[in-house]
Amino acid sequence: MSTPMLPSRPSAVPTPACATARRWKPAPSIYGAAAVHAGAAAALLAQPHAWPWAAGGVVASHLALTAAGLWPRSALLGPNWTRLPEHAGECIALTIDDGPDPEVTPRVLDLLDRYDARATFFCIGDLARRHPQWIEAIVARGHAVENHSQRHRHTFSLTGPRAMKREIEAAQRTLTEIAGTAPRFFRAPAGLRNPFLEPVLCDLGLHLASWTRRGFDTRAKDAGTVERRLLDGLAPRDILLVHDGHAARDARGEPLVLDVLPALLRAAAEARLPWTTLRACLDDQP
Ligand SMILES: [Zn+2]
Repeated sequence: MSTPMLPSRPSAVPTPACATARRWKPAPSIYGAAAVHAGAAAALLAQPHAWPWAAGGVVASHLALTAAGLWPRSALLGPNWTRLPEHAGECIALTIDDGPDPEVTPRVLDLLDRYDARATFFCIGDLARRHPQWIEAIVARGHAVENHSQRHRHTFSLTGPRAMKREIEAAQRTLTEIAGTAPRFFRAPAGLRNPFLEPVLCDLGLHLASWTRRGFDTRAKDAGTVERRLLDGLAPRDILLVHDGHAARDARGEPLVLDVLPALLRAAAEARLPWTTLRACLDDQP
């Protein structure tokens, strides 16, 4: 294992923790749910004995919104980056979640350096606070740090708008302070969310990002399976997801992601698909 390079600490320039707020435009599903509620209320007033139908409609609309939130790649609750925008051309994006991890992140950074690849790290605020030097290293070595919540609670999608905002804002403050640049993207823990998330992200000027394909490298037993999931059908504008935190281990106890990454980076080089970061593909980037 090579010795990871530790960068010097970036100068302490105060940086605003949030980008400019986006205007919230409710998704058609939200209008639909609102229409069902209004219709149910009107039906109750006109024909009180029809209450089971009205209640059934309301429950069904809630179930539909819940199902949309449990589907990480769905855009039913609002905009969601599942691929890079068209102007990204041939580029692809590697996103790396759940770090920083003091054992795995430095080795991931060395591999990325070896292939001159840029990646987007979705980091957990609490871990960033514990291992700030690896957030600094990610930025110093040309990668992007984005928001993956402060505590990565799996109950995130069950919380209301205020708790959700607290959690995202705390990570936004932590990561901005350490990285010196405010995150522009948010990825929900396990990709699960609810209809309250999009207005909160708009308020904080963040964009929701999921992925095109993921390797399930926190649960897989061998690197080959993860490689196939990520590489079969690899195409321009794909967003790939692997993990430097919570990494599954192979029979030798080695994190799978460290076996997977060289194959992935080689395959992209052979297919002439350059790596980019999500933020480099935002419209407001120069
Ligand atoms: Zn995660």
